[in-house]
Amino acid sequence: MQSCDLIVVGAGPAGMAAAIRSAELGMTTVILDEQEGPGGQIYRAVSSVPKRRAEILGKDYLAGSELTDTLANSGARHLNQATVWRIEADGTVAWSKDGAGRCMRGKCVVIATGALERPMPIPGWTLPGVMTAGAAQILLKQSGVTPQQAVIAGAGPLLYLLAQQLVRAGQPPLALVETRAPGALALAARHLAGALRGWRYLVKGSGMLAEIRRAGVPRYTGGTALQVEGDEAAQAFIFEHRGRRRRVECRHVLLHQGVVPNIQATRALGVEHVWDPAQRCFTPRLDPWGRTSNPAIYVAGDGGGIGGAHAAEHAGRLAALSVGLALGALPQADFDRESQTLRAALQRELAIRPFLDALYAPMPEILRPADDTVVCRCEEVTAGDIRRYSSAGCIGPNQTKAFGRCGMGPCQGRYCGLTVTEILANANGMAHQDTGYYRIRMPLKPVTLGEMAAMVSVLEGQDA
Ligand SMILES: Cc1cc2nc3c(=O)[nH]c(=O)nc-3n(C[C@H](O)[C@H](O)[C@H](O)COP(=O)(O)OP(=O)(O)OC[C@H]3O[C@@H](n4cnc5c(N)ncnc54)[C@H](O)[C@@H]3O)c2cc1C
Repeated sequence: MQSCDLIVVGAGPAGMAAAIRSAELGMTTVILDEQEGPGGQIYRAVSSVPKRRAEILGKDYLAGSELTDTLANSGARHLNQATVWRIEADGTVAWSKDGAGRCMRGKCVVIATGALERPMPIPGWTLPGVMTAGAAQILLKQSGVTPQQAVIAGAGPLLYLLAQQLVRAGQPPLALVETRAPGALALAARHLAGALRGWRYLVKGSGMLAEIRRAGVPRYTGGTALQVEGDEAAQAFIFEHRGRRRRVECRHVLLHQGVVPNIQATRALGVEHVWDPAQRCFTPRLDPWGRTSNPAIYVAGDGGGIGGAHAAEHAGRLAALSVGLALGALPQADFDRESQTLRAALQRELAIRPFLDALYAPMPEILRPADDTVVCRCEEVTAGDIRRYSSAGCIGPNQTKAFGRCGMGPCQGRYCGLTVTEILANANGMAHQDTGYYRIRMPLKPVTLGEMAAMVSVLEGQDA
């Protein structure tokens, strides 16, 4: 089997920064990503974006081309359209590309697989025409497609960004319904000192809101009792606002309730995880350089805790430095000096997070939805079903699989895992940490028998 010093999984800001720094240190480096080009979620398709689309997506998006260009000239080997489906504790990574399986062993692995959008189960969220705000952004970045007659609903800065981009694309949303609770600003104000250190983000946010306002998009804050109405597809978005029930006819509903770390790979590896009460999600337990409880496996970027693209870059470089120290590519004194500067920069980036976490805290009705709301979309398990499992003695998400196949569909729990933890923790009066999460199994992504059969040739030493 081929081997190298470092395998990086994910070519977003964290993975690109890790691979670039690793290659600079002279380590043999391979970076894998399932997308057509590097960039991750924020800079998706930035190397090939047409001019008009670039104008819509804005200058923060275009700034990503600096990283993608540096990666291209770094000496790290970038394999695109490579879907990783297995990572082993000894650093062996398996992926599919061009219809064939491949595998390689890294002395160390940096998992930089980013974030997923938090599940937002509301009545009607499984209807055609309903998707996440991030999914709508992927359509826009990748293909220049914009949803028409859309309502955007939920919480978090990504909502404003998407609304702004739809305005620029000539398809302003019909309404922006924010679920931020009326008291959230007062709670968030306790973290104002940190927020002021991240004043650039505040300025950017108010600029986006001003552009949305100028475009005449109706904005409602404090929306509750959210619901999508429709028989065959979404026809209207219904919500309560200041005691009044409102109904907006629409063809698309774009839901978003913040992002959470994508922990599928680290869970499958069995490394330690902890519950983060501020971001209401599990994160892998990491040392200051991103190393997990397995010394060969690192996590960088949003996959280790939500911090945004700039924080992800710093975390990627820190992980590469730590790998460099471990593999003898970097003297201790250089490591100390560089990592100190990077850690200070990372702390500056993260200073605004407690403010944002408090301001855009997920609403209780999506954390613990009403009984008849579908939670596990793949197996059609409702919130009421999970509460019934709890009454019958079910204490953790893994057991819900035995009770009703919850989490056993093709999404492998990505869409329902956190909701199941929240409902069970609440119903059983247990801590989230003790309630736990699904036991995730490899393969992380679907793989065909043909791809696995073709893998034999690589094991015999052919080119990856
Ligand atoms: C849908 C979505 C849209 C977002 N849009 C924005 C935005 O416009 N602006 C903004 O500021 N923030 C955005 N964010 C937040 C933003 O993604 C992060 O703050 C930042 O990009 C994190 O960088 P990262 O390197 O940790 O992860 P990411 O940028 O998410 O990169 C992770 C990479 O890992 C790859 N990957 C994951 N699993 C596998 C696998 N099994 N095999 C191979 N490759 C894999 C993905 O294809 C992706 O390229 C978005 C988040 C999401 C979920």
